[in-house]
Amino acid sequence: MRVASLQDHPQHPVQMPGASGARMRMLVGPADGATVFHMRHFEVAPGGFTPHHQHDYEHEILILRGSGTARSEAGDRPCRAGDVIWVPPNEMHQFMNTGPEPLEFICLIPAPRDCSTPATAPGCAGGG
Ligand SMILES: [Zn+2]
Repeated sequence: MRVASLQDHPQHPVQMPGASGARMRMLVGPADGATVFHMRHFEVAPGGFTPHHQHDYEHEILILRGSGTARSEAGDRPCRAGDVIWVPPNEMHQFMNTGPEPLEFICLIPAPRDCSTPATAPGCAGGG
């Protein structure tokens, strides 16, 4: 077992094209030898957004702080701290911070992904 603060995990800018003001922390991932899930933390600055993208795996998201817009193929919906979001595989999605404070959320993805490069794993590298 490993116990560590959120803040102890390094935060990196999301460099995937189409992202703005978004940063990611890998909370549980390849470095831990996690074999089933990877847990990531995203922080999107006011006015920022994650890329509008899709992939063949799902996202399981819990919003921790702030408020914004969750864009999907079903349209735009408001979201805020406490909301739970499931993004099915292959559905286009994007998260935008429309509020005055940082938008923070946890995003789970399946582990067997190559997280080494954005080209091989766009969602892993910072899709959100
Ligand atoms: Zn994604």
